[in-house]
Amino acid sequence: MSLLRSSVRCSSYPTHVVRMFSSSASRSKQRLVILGSGWGGYEVLRGIDKKRWNVTIISPTNAFNFTPLLASCAVGTLEFRCAVEPVRKYSPEVIAYQAWCDAIDFKQKVLTCMPATPSLSSERSSARLVESSKPWTQSSGVGTPFTVRYDKLVIAVGAYSQTFDVPGVKQYAHFLKDVRDARAIRTRILDCFELANQPILSDIQRRNLLNFCIVGGGPTGVEFAAELHDLLHAEVEQHYPSLARLAKITLYDVAPNILGNFDRSLATYAEDKFRRDGISIKTRHHVERVEKDRMFVKEQGEVPFGLLVWSTGLAPNPLIQSIAYIAKHERSQSLLTDNNLNVLTKDGQIDPDVWAIGDAAITKTAELPATAQVANQKAKYMVKKLNKIVKDQEHTKPFEFHNQGSLAYLGDWKAIYDRSTAETGIKTKESGRLAWLLWRSAYFTMTLSIRNKILVPTYWFLNWIFGRDLSRF
Ligand code: FAD
Repeated sequence: MSLLRSSVRCSSYPTHVVRMFSSSASRSKQRLVILGSGWGGYEVLRGIDKKRWNVTIISPTNAFNFTPLLASCAVGTLEFRCAVEPVRKYSPEVIAYQAWCDAIDFKQKVLTCMPATPSLSSERSSARLVESSKPWTQSSGVGTPFTVRYDKLVIAVGAYSQTFDVPGVKQYAHFLKDVRDARAIRTRILDCFELANQPILSDIQRRNLLNFCIVGGGPTGVEFAAELHDLLHAEVEQHYPSLARLAKITLYDVAPNILGNFDRSLATYAEDKFRRDGISIKTRHHVERVEKDRMFVKEQGEVPFGLLVWSTGLAPNPLIQSIAYIAKHERSQSLLTDNNLNVLTKDGQIDPDVWAIGDAAITKTAELPATAQVANQKAKYMVKKLNKIVKDQEHTKPFEFHNQGSLAYLGDWKAIYDRSTAETGIKTKESGRLAWLLWRSAYFTMTLSIRNKILVPTYWFLNWIFGRDLSRF
């Protein structure tokens, strides 16, 4: 996931290189273009009637990332394959371009896209663009832009990681947004232990390398801290016994409490558990600057680290930022939609051919959280709607969200579960082993392909028996 890509690229297009892309698929069918292959876009892709629509999906990755399992992948509880589903599964029925959409002409119904694959002329730089999980560090202007026409458009480009413009975060912190991030984090954790194991290092140098800092006390930061704690207290204690006692996990947040969106008693349960486990929680702490291997915290001064994982919420996708035609939500700057998920233009009109779902959008009348659950339910709603459109039927029922509750893993096979049902006002709370069972069964159930329905429990079982793999590749 990246922060600054699209806006940089739009201005650098040489117009003569932009060419129209024609598809071999039948033009008698309407062209549906899906932007993004995440929780929103991939679910639309899965469910859409591919015989009646001429479908194109445009996304810089050719896979769907099952985000709730990324923290497990980052420490080796699961292998990376468990958290991805290939977009290519649906081609050639569907046209798939591994590319960024950089601009949308809503009047002409044309998208301008930039390949996210290595180009022949600049193989090396664009290869980095694809491989890196931080494309904002890449040089702009690689590849040849192309255009794609649409009749109907679903915008599901998600959001980027929020950094609050803290200097150095983009360069020196790790994010956890996709499998490439999880792989980079896992490599770094293992690097830290192998480096700290070198005989020439002092204990202070070892402690610094084994200082694991996480900034952001939301569910992602908490789950990563918990998974890392599991790794340290299982495989690391066993294979690096002298180093395990030097390792430390610290969770930072500016807020007075972690897990602010959970019921207070569950957040307290999590804080108490972390304290017992030796995970240090530093709330009301402000990271002011990050440099290579160290950060500066207002309340603490200089903090050396081996790994810094940054997870402080969402920032708008640059494509969304660049769109002037659609009205935006004031605080989040997401695209505003009506209850049928059609985008609302600046002058208050509905664009009947464009819908927006997932983290990139917000419904005007109901400010739902930016979660996979919401993105997935909106995508399922879109599938119903679009499949009716091609049958000349109407699906006028507005979108309704059904809250399945929130879960967070806390380590040692414990979790918390929080569900409040607006309609009934009933609140369901669960913590500990039962919540962990709910956590595992929820994510097993949500896993999409049969392959991953086999792989995920297989890896849970294998790692329970044999432990996580500490090999570095
Ligand atoms: P995404 O899933 O982020 O997908 C966006 C897609 O758009 C990606 O394929 C991206 O490559 C593509 N894209 C970006 N820019 C462009 C462009 N310019 N052109 C074309 N394509 C583009 N939610 C839960 O409900 N439960 C959880 O347990 C949970 N755990 C999470 C754990 C982690 C580590 C993270 C990071 C998030 C988690 N979430 C969870 C939140 C959830 O993943 C998001 O809310 C969800 O991914 C939003 O779906 P989306 O389709 O809007 O965006």
